[in-house]
Amino acid sequence: MSFDLVVVGASFAGLAAARAAALAGLRVLVLEKKQSAGARLHTTGVIVKDAIEEIAWLQEVPPALVRRIDGVRLYAPNLRHLDLYAPGYYFWATDAPALLDWMVGSVRASGAEVRLETLFTEARPVSGAEGWEIPLASGEAVRTRYLIGADGPFSRVAKSLGLSQNREFLFGVEHEYPDAEMDRNFLHCFVDRELAPGYIGWAVAGVAAAQVGLARRVLPGAGHGRLRLDGLLEKTSHLVQPLGPARSVRAGMIPCGGLLERVARPGALLVGDAAGMVSPATAGGIHTALRHGQEAGEAVAAFLQGRKDDPAAWLPRRYPTFRAKRAVRWLYEKLQNDWVFNQLLGTAAMRRLAEEVYFHRKGSKGRATHAARR
Ligand SMILES: Cc1cc2nc3c(=O)[nH]c(=O)nc-3n(C[C@H](O)[C@H](O)[C@H](O)COP(=O)(O)OP(=O)(O)OC[C@H]3O[C@@H](n4cnc5c(N)ncnc54)[C@H](O)[C@@H]3O)c2cc1C
Repeated sequence: MSFDLVVVGASFAGLAAARAAALAGLRVLVLEKKQSAGARLHTTGVIVKDAIEEIAWLQEVPPALVRRIDGVRLYAPNLRHLDLYAPGYYFWATDAPALLDWMVGSVRASGAEVRLETLFTEARPVSGAEGWEIPLASGEAVRTRYLIGADGPFSRVAKSLGLSQNREFLFGVEHEYPDAEMDRNFLHCFVDRELAPGYIGWAVAGVAAAQVGLARRVLPGAGHGRLRLDGLLEKTSHLVQPLGPARSVRAGMIPCGGLLERVARPGALLVGDAAGMVSPATAGGIHTALRHGQEAGEAVAAFLQGRKDDPAAWLPRRYPTFRAKRAVRWLYEKLQNDWVFNQLLGTAAMRRLAEEVYFHRKGSKGRATHAARR
């Protein structure tokens, strides 16, 4: 079987790439190891306004799969809080499993083939011709002119092609409850060095579930460490009260070292988490995965149709390097101190930093409105 483009990974980056390439007229195959794109997810699924407005595909998402949230409630370790809004700015909480399954349907409708339960293990250059041969566990090997690795933080495509691999991570765990009592207008974010060193805890009343999670920095060479979600629930019991036991767990590693050095070689590109495209400050990667996945699909189509050079030579220069956000992460890791955070909450400096991190200072012509309360 031969294709113009094989994409490994049916998540945000891979599906955006496959759809863009198929709409441009390429023969596209997506390989996904899970039985469905929405199975065993490792994401909260919060999508920022910038992505919603920039990615036209998201305008087609069925309204039942998303819920608008207008503000962030940021809690200091002593649980004083700051409400952050920016005029016109909002997030989507999503039913992420259903959203990804919907995306697969949409990608198939655009003309791409999506093969589930199909593990990618390696790609070999085709001798004497351009492209790659991909052996599959069952059935005949697949040939492709171009390969996109959108297979997440531990990319097999990167390993097989000798490209860079993620080495710096946060570890996140999230429980999904049928529902929970909490203020539904906010994404609740909790700073606590003991419970979430190097990151935060969070709670959000999502679409089909309430989600409560914690993430921490993983130290190189050490295991990912324990995360005490029960400790967060105990501490915040007057703010967030799950109704019933957790019905599922989402857990995973989040690259936090910024863009990797070598993310392409002739005829092949990495995108999304595979390329380290996650904001080191917020740990958000859905927007960049969708945006650069789509760009990668369009660029590969332009190359194979003779309109542009191989994107391996130029597209990675347009990938985000997250320099400022890496500095924010470095500072946070060095200076995360509960006493200091308790003192700073409500100050102008803290407000500005929080605006920068959560709203990218977009959507606000000046600054986010705020109120610090006990
Ligand atoms: C707990 C947690 C919460 C998060 N919450 C948010 C959030 O709210 N908002 C946000 O913007 N970001 C969030 N992130 C980050 C975000 O989920 C990722 O940045 C985003 O999912 C990256 O998309 P991707 O398509 O690059 O890769 P992934 O979503 O990791 O998808 C990779 C796909 O490749 C498949 N795959 C892997 N290996 C193979 C193989 N060998 N063969 C075939 N298929 C393979 C996988 O099964 C998977 O479907 C969160 C991350 C975690 C861990």
